[in-house]
Order: sequence, then structure tokens, then C-alpha cells
Amino acid sequence: RYIPPLPKSASKSKYEKFDLKEEYKKREGGKDMLNMVVIGHVDAGKSTLMGHLLFQLGNVNQRAMHKYEQESKKLGKSSFAYAWVLDETEEERVRGVTMDIAQTKFETPQKIITLLDAPGHKDFIPNMITGTAQADVAILVVNSTKGEFETGFESGGQTREHALLARSLGVSQLIVAVNKMDTVKWDKARYDDVVRKMGQFLKQAGFKDSDVSFIPVSGLGGENLVKPVKEPQLSEWYRGCTLLEQIEKFKPVTRAVEKPLRIIVSDVFKGMGSGYTVTGKVVSGSVQLGDRVTVMPAAEYAVVKGLSMNDEGCNYVFAGDHCNVVITGIDITHVGPGSVLCDSTSPVTCATRIQARIVLFNLEIPMTRGFTVIFHYQCVSEPAIVKKLVSQLNKSTGEVIKNKPKCLMKNSSAVVEIEFDHPVCIELYKDNKDLGRFMLRSGGHTIAAGLIEGVMKTKTGYV
Ligand code: GDP
Repeated sequence: RYIPPLPKSASKSKYEKFDLKEEYKKREGGKDMLNMVVIGHVDAGKSTLMGHLLFQLGNVNQRAMHKYEQESKKLGKSSFAYAWVLDETEEERVRGVTMDIAQTKFETPQKIITLLDAPGHKDFIPNMITGTAQADVAILVVNSTKGEFETGFESGGQTREHALLARSLGVSQLIVAVNKMDTVKWDKARYDDVVRKMGQFLKQAGFKDSDVSFIPVSGLGGENLVKPVKEPQLSEWYRGCTLLEQIEKFKPVTRAVEKPLRIIVSDVFKGMGSGYTVTGKVVSGSVQLGDRVTVMPAAEYAVVKGLSMNDEGCNYVFAGDHCNVVITGIDITHVGPGSVLCDSTSPVTCATRIQARIVLFNLEIPMTRGFTVIFHYQCVSEPAIVKKLVSQLNKSTGEVIKNKPKCLMKNSSAVVEIEFDHPVCIELYKDNKDLGRFMLRSGGHTIAAGLIEGVMKTKTGYV
């Protein structure tokens, strides 16, 4: 594969050089940093729950909260006040003005949690994929109201789909917030019923029992979020954690800091001064100011001139971080969502055709050769075609049941070849779990999750 030559003046730098191994150890006073996403069916109460949590944690000032209450009352929707905490942040973030809310980042005694992709009312799966692909852990909000839980949970409901997506995107730890418990009078039998059904399903979806926990809450009333339970109907039978205490119990995740640098670009914009800014997640490795990186698939060099996280400048970033990177030395049209900033000595592969192992979910029509799909991984979505059905596998043992099947039915497992319209930066699942895992969507549904096992054709250069 093509590796561009090193320019002669590459090593000269005006920036202070840090020993990143040492810096990583010192970081944030030893607190665990976790990226968390909130998922669930539309109207399950995701925004309200998170808005109220941030409010109780003191991340939203009284004045701002008062403003949301007044405005929502005026519109006759006073129950939306907490949800607006998040919606407004999102909008203001886009416009780049000062935010009433400090950040969608909060601290617990042992953790620093970055809330990803703060959910608004518009529940839009591709956005959800972007957020979830970057998450380490998730809160799945389900609505306990009679009939509503069932709607979200049926096939077609987003509860199932979000949980499946989260698991296949690499989220392994999950808190299920059984929300709106006020609407069922904090009924223990109802709670147990939801826990049992969700528990069974999540196990099937590949979550370990020990990595899933359940919490009865009311996002609207603010019950069982941060403060000890006051609601007599709940305290009668519930002795467990609050939502915050459960968040505190998330296990730290190991980050691939020692591996070659990979920053997956989700957005590019022109900032002030020279160069421009890319937003992305560091999936492995580390980088510091002044470093030179290779941008793929363009296969061109760029120099890191600025780094920031949560709007604060920093000298370096590590695997697991979400950051803005100011780069110079490469034409802005050669970088876009899906580009990867790489370690120059070992850039990613850019493939136009891969071989992958997939698990099909609910398919309306069987998958045949020539089936068109949208290939999703991290923040990238790329039109693709299933070019070849290589073999059908036994779902539990992985053994080949049939070579060259004519078609694949729902819930089956198979090895297929997929071809993209444009080169896609990928890595094999065995080398990098983040870049080696993907999702296929078709007709507005997630139809399969997969692991990249081989690269059939490659191509670099900007397209
Ligand atoms: P999202 O679409 O999942 O983000 O849901 P929202 O947070 O926008 O909430 C949807 C609706 O449910 C709003 O009218 C909320 O006020 C209401 N809601 C949210 N949480 C609760 C709760 O705990 N109890 C009750 N009764 N209503 C809630």
C-alpha cells in the first residue's frame, strides 16, 4: 500500500515535546474518563432525564433553569423545561455562543463523564450511530408507562434497535433507566416485569449480566437521580443505587494508547487563523502539538497546530478523547467525515472491497448478491453493495453450513464481500476493535452488524 515519503524538515518543531506515556499517567488526577451516550425510544424521556441529572449536579444555573421553565410554561409545555437544557446546549454549541450550561461533561468522585451527542427530540438513527460509535458506556432509557414500554420494545421500536446497535458498536456496559415510574405509581411488579423482559433481551443481544444494571427513576420528578430516594412508594421496596451512584460503578475502559494514532474525523470546519479544524475521536494512540500526521484516504501529510477538548486548549490527546484538531498543510477538500488522521509510519488501509462476517437482524427481504446497503462505522456512512455471499455460518459455532448460498434470511450469520463506492478507511477487527466493526442499514433499518476480516481491494488518494 502507498506510504507517502517523509518531508525533509519534518522533525523541526517550535512546540514543547512531552513524554506522552508520563503525561497519560498523570492525567486528570487519575480519574477515569468515560464517554457516555443516552439511547432509547423517542419520548422515553432521554432529554428530560439527562437535563434533570445535569441540573441536580449543579451544571445548569438557577437563572437558566428559571428561563427554561418560564418559556416552556408560556408554550403550555412546562414538562419540557428539563429537556430544553440539552436541546439548547446543542443548538448553541452549533452556533458557537456561550452556553448557559457549563458543559455536557460532569464529574463524580472517581470519574469524568462526557455526555455524547446530547439527545434532542429528533430521534434520528444515523446521529445515534455517530454518538454511540464514540461511546464507552450507555444509558438506555425505557418508558415504564403501561403500553409505552411495549411499543418501544416491539420489533420496529427503537428500544431493541438501539440496544443492538450499542452492543455491536462496542458498548459493553449499560444502565437501563426504567423511567416515568411516577406514571405507574412506582409499582414494583411493573418494574420487575420491565427488568425481566429487558434482561432477557439484552442477554440475547450479547450483553453480560454483570455489565447491565437497572434503576427505577423519574426524569421529570428528578427521583432517584442524584439524591437519596424520598418517594415513599419507591423507598418501600427499593434499596439500590441512585442513577449517579450506578454511573460511578461503570468499570474503567482500557484505551489503546500504545497503538498507532487513529483519529476518525466526524466534521471539518474553517476556523480562525491559518489551517482548519477537524472534530473527531481518537480511537487509538496519542498525538501532541507540532506532530505530523498522515491523513487517509488522501495519503497526505498535515501538521497538528492546535488541539482542544470541550473548548479548552490542550497540548496532547489520547485514545478515548474527543477533540478538535487544527491542521495545516493539506487542502481542506481532501479531508472529510470518515478521514482518519494516522501515525505517519503506519497509516490505516483504505479499502474499496472487504470481506466480513455479518449477523443479520430483521430483514424484510432476503439478502442476495447485489443487495445495496449503507455501510456505517464510527461516524461514516457509505453506500455499498453486497458483492458476494461467500458462506453461511452456524450462528453459535461459526462453522460453515453452506458455501456460496443463493440468499441469506433474517437472523442468519454469514461471510460476505462488500464493495464501496468510495475508499473507506478500515482496519481488520483483529487489529482494531473500533475500526473493524460496522453496521449495515437498508430502507431505514439496521439490518446487520459485522466484523471486518479481510481486505480485498484497496485505494488511496483523495476522491
Ligand atoms: P426523549 O424523546 O426521549 O428525549 O423524551 P423527552 O425527554 O423529550 O420526554 C418526552 C415526554 O415525556 C415529555 O413530555 C416529558 O415531559 C415526559 N417525561 C419525561 N420523563 C418523564 C417522567 O419521568 N415522568 C413523566 N410523567 N413524564 C416524563
